[in-house]
Amino acid sequence: MDDSDRLINSEAYVITQTDYGEADRIYTIFSRRNGKIKALAHGARKSKSRKAGHLQPLTLNHLMLAKGKTFWVITQADTLNPYTLIKNDLKKTASALYVFELVNRFAPENEPVIPLFQLIKESLDRIEKEDDHFLNIKYFEFRLLKSTGFMPNLVDCVQCGEPIQPQDQYFSAEQGGVLCPHCGIKGFNARKISLPALRYFRFIQRSPYNELQKARPTPEIQQEMESLMLYYLTYITEKGFNTPVFLHQVEKIFKKKDSNE
Ligand SMILES: [Zn+2]
Repeated sequence: MDDSDRLINSEAYVITQTDYGEADRIYTIFSRRNGKIKALAHGARKSKSRKAGHLQPLTLNHLMLAKGKTFWVITQADTLNPYTLIKNDLKKTASALYVFELVNRFAPENEPVIPLFQLIKESLDRIEKEDDHFLNIKYFEFRLLKSTGFMPNLVDCVQCGEPIQPQDQYFSAEQGGVLCPHCGIKGFNARKISLPALRYFRFIQRSPYNELQKARPTPEIQQEMESLMLYYLTYITEKGFNTPVFLHQVEKIFKKKDSNE
């Protein structure tokens, strides 16, 4: 056993935390080197705990961990980026929490998914800088699906294999992609997908982020894309998501505020 099996020295984000025993806390963290792991912080619930001060959600930390009997144990934590701009803005907070909810649902435990760490970091940096998060979140969702092996097929009909024609189609989460109109009406719990939404999904699927900013879908198409993506992600993880509801409530508040000004 070399040191890398017993020690972790890595950048990491806190995803969730739960109280443990009298004074301890167990954190689910996502680390650059080891992916998603569970780690114990001794005394984290004591008011004087220096470690707990750093181990906040939506914070990038540098962590040192040592292998314990059951859990990794956090021996040192230092904040690298507190993302203050995100924490001070409800809309940005909602988007960032959604990113971590997806990471928690999709990332396997104790398995490094190296591109995912970089993707989280880039997405949070964009949430911090930009105000419209639609493209950033859709880009994140597609890259997450790719790195975890769930990228939907949007090019050929997943049932008959015929290339998809430029017209309205169907999308089936169960089948993992688009269905031509002929196969779509046969069922597979397929939902309709309009041609503009399909085109834009394909554009996001194949383009680097800076290319995406050249074309923005209309609010109606954005809504259609959001609802289809939620249907697909929910099917894959077999659970409803909490943060999109929160995200929409926040957006409604902001729209009301804008129209009152
Ligand atoms: Zn077909």
